[in-house]
Order: sequence, then C-alpha cells, then structure tokens
Amino acid sequence: MFIHKPLLLHEVRVEMPDPVFAEKLLEQYGGATGELTAALTYWTQSFHVDNPAIRDMLQDIGTEELGHLEIVAMLIEQHTRRASQDVQDRAFRSTLFAIRGYGPHLVDSKGLSWDGRYVNEGGELARDLRANLAAEGGALNTYEQLIRMSSDEGTRNALVHLATREVAHTHMFMEALRSINKLDQPLFGDLRPDETVNLYFNLSSGQDADQRGPWNSEPAFSYVADPLQRERQEHANKAGSNEMQLGTAPAGHQAPGQGPAPGVGTGTPEKP
Ligand code: MN
Ligand code: MN
Repeated sequence: MFIHKPLLLHEVRVEMPDPVFAEKLLEQYGGATGELTAALTYWTQSFHVDNPAIRDMLQDIGTEELGHLEIVAMLIEQHTRRASQDVQDRAFRSTLFAIRGYGPHLVDSKGLSWDGRYVNEGGELARDLRANLAAEGGALNTYEQLIRMSSDEGTRNALVHLATREVAHTHMFMEALRSINKLDQPLFGDLRPDETVNLYFNLSSGQDADQRGPWNSEPAFSYVADPLQRERQEHANKAGSNEMQLGTAPAGHQAPGQGPAPGVGTGTPEKP
C-alpha cells in the first residue's frame, strides 16, 4: 500500500520565483530523465526479481523517487502559482503555463507528454540494473544543467539534494550488480559466445582513427587492425575447408579452430 504524508524529503523554499525556469524544471517531472520515469521503472522492475533483498532495494528507491517527484512538483508550484501577482503575470510569458495553468504538468520542458516508453525494464536483473546506471546518469546530468541555470538559492539547495541522491542510487545499483558478480562481467544469461567475443574491430580507420586504449588491448581484447583482410581470410578459409571436404585442400591449409583467428593480434602494441 501507499501512504502519503505531506512531509518533504528536503525543504523547498523558492525565494525568487521564475516561471521560465519552472518550464525547464518540468524535464524532471514529466521528462525522460525525470522522477516519474525513475519511480515507475524501479517499481516495475522489482516485481521481476526473486532475490528478496534486491526487490526491497528497488522498491525503497522507487518510493524515494516518488518523494523526489513531490519535491519537483513543489518547486514548479512555487516558481509559478505561489509567486506574487507580479510574478504570476510573468508566468504567462511562459507559453506552457499560460496554456496549461500554474503548477506541474506531466510534460517535459518542451511540453511533450510523459511517455511510458521512457521506462527501461526487461525482466532480467543484470540488464535492469545496468539500465538503471544509465537512468541515474541521465537524471544527474539534467540536474547539473538545471543547477547551472538556477540563480535562486532555495531552488539550488533542493536540486543539489536531488542530484546527490541520484549519485547515491547509482552507487547502490553498482553494489547490487557487484553482489551478483555482474558489475564488470559483460556477459549474463545462458549465452555461449562465439570466437569473436574478445575481438576489437578497427572499423573506423585512418588518420586519428586508430586510437588504442584498454578497451581494445591485451589482455581483454585482441585488436583486429585490418578487419577487411581478416574477413577475406575467413572467406578463403571457408572455401578451403569446403574444398578439403571434397579432398582438394590446398597445401598448408589450416582448418578452422586451429591457432589464432586470421588477422587477430595484428597491431597489438608491444609490451614496454
Ligand atoms: Mn530521483
Ligand atoms: Mn535515482
């Protein structure tokens, strides 16, 4: 069940109401990275999870996000409806509030209706927790932009709290992933990957386009410097193995599955 208490998780005291800024705040009310999206995402995900501790975490965080939705609603209300008559007049400089009236609406900063397709959930725990890392990152980034654009002290304080909690949630989701050994394991589920799982294809090549980093180097990856050459070699091998089945294998042919895949390892930087 849900019980609502009219107590805010963080105080909201807007000193200088600004209806144009309130329009931007709508991004965190009815927008893709907003609190409604977060609340409904974690809530829905929780019913897919057998692990009772992680289910509880998703429901705790989902409910906290509803509390955030309340804070954003109060901010928007104070930036519009609770403002002085002078500022209320200014509210009508904002097309959105002029048409829809004061206070929050389920639209984003451009007036686009909230959409259930913002919710990212798929019923697999590792997949969902990773989606949540991206969701929290999106929320944090939006709050950072809003804090940058806000000149009202009370608004900034509330926004810093909301942004801080998204950092905390990110950390919680990371620890949950770690608890199921999926924080740094790209693979989940029952897939038995093929032989390309550790290959990096240098498909965008040319000047400044052959950059190297841990994402394409040993020990995690074999760097395929020339994927086209590798592909040709693969085709040649396949043709060769067909010929071999007919008893006409060319001399020196190496059957697939023996030795490194063609083109693999070329261009790998030498160890210092
Ligand atoms: Mn939140
Ligand atoms: Mn969050």
